[in-house]
Amino acid sequence: MKAAVYYNNNDVRLEERPRPTIDKGEILVKVVASGICGSDVLEWYRIKKAPIVLGHEISGIVEEIGEGVEDLNVGDRVFVSHHVPCNRCRYCLAGNHTVCDTLHHTNFDPGGFAEFIRIPSINVESGTFVLPCSVSFDEGTFVEPLGCVLRGQRSIDLKPEHSLLILGSGISGLLHILAARAIGVEQIIATDVNRFQLEMAASLGAHAVIDAREDVPSVLREKNNGRGADRVIVCTGAFPAFQQAMRSVDRAGTVLCFATTAPGTDLPVPINEFWRNSITVTSSYAAAPIDLAEALDYLGKKKINVNPLITHRFGLADTEKGFRLMAGTSNSLKIIIEPQN
Ligand SMILES: [Zn+2]
Ligand SMILES: [Zn+2]
Repeated sequence: MKAAVYYNNNDVRLEERPRPTIDKGEILVKVVASGICGSDVLEWYRIKKAPIVLGHEISGIVEEIGEGVEDLNVGDRVFVSHHVPCNRCRYCLAGNHTVCDTLHHTNFDPGGFAEFIRIPSINVESGTFVLPCSVSFDEGTFVEPLGCVLRGQRSIDLKPEHSLLILGSGISGLLHILAARAIGVEQIIATDVNRFQLEMAASLGAHAVIDAREDVPSVLREKNNGRGADRVIVCTGAFPAFQQAMRSVDRAGTVLCFATTAPGTDLPVPINEFWRNSITVTSSYAAAPIDLAEALDYLGKKKINVNPLITHRFGLADTEKGFRLMAGTSNSLKIIIEPQN
């Protein structure tokens, strides 16, 4: 079979790989759609494992079923999660599934930018979801990124009456806008340096947008009745956004680091001010099966329409083109690779 192998952001090669064979409890999935995630083009994060077949936002069709698999059938349309928790360790039992060792080490084989993937039995058991007919393969690629967003918003107890500042209007920022709109958040303000993304943020439901090169904490207060935001979500790895977050949060508010910088970057926190004003700084990484189920529910019931976020579709041979677009500053949002084309 063919697979697109990642060497670096500008070098992704179409290579021949053996089609995976499956064992007891496993399934083989024919990948129909595979989204490029912002984290796929974080070169410092990905390059240490290169050459590697990336791709973790997938949807496809069950092609083969291993012995003992009961709840799935050949031909089922599915989303499969690459990372799944053990559900038994102290972290999982306390609800912190995304720091579980098992979650960090599980994956499908070889990766979503390939014609077929083998799904290990643990992913079959707790990471495989049948797509309802109302969810297209394209929409299925959003289950994972939307699951991460819903988990993040739950972690900061986002409510309709909150004012929400979203720093960075790439895919994750825009998904945060859609999810916040879905629960009726009344004041959503989004930032970015890219005009196209600011326009998208406004068209998807942000009540106001701010060019990130402006003095964001002051402009925010002008637009938010003189107050900072109750909830601030950082959705870009750009360091100035983290600094803006620290100065944009209102009393008793919360800053959520949804994105990260490269390792080795420290963020100064005004301890005295935060202490006096009861401010929380927290983080959210990845998604657990419960978040994925919720994301699928949102998509199935059309609480969120992710289709306007899809800007490009490429066949497997053009995966490199997709990576270049995603890593560059072009007007691209979600790029979907179609391994069968
Ligand atoms: Zn992702
Ligand atoms: Zn665990």
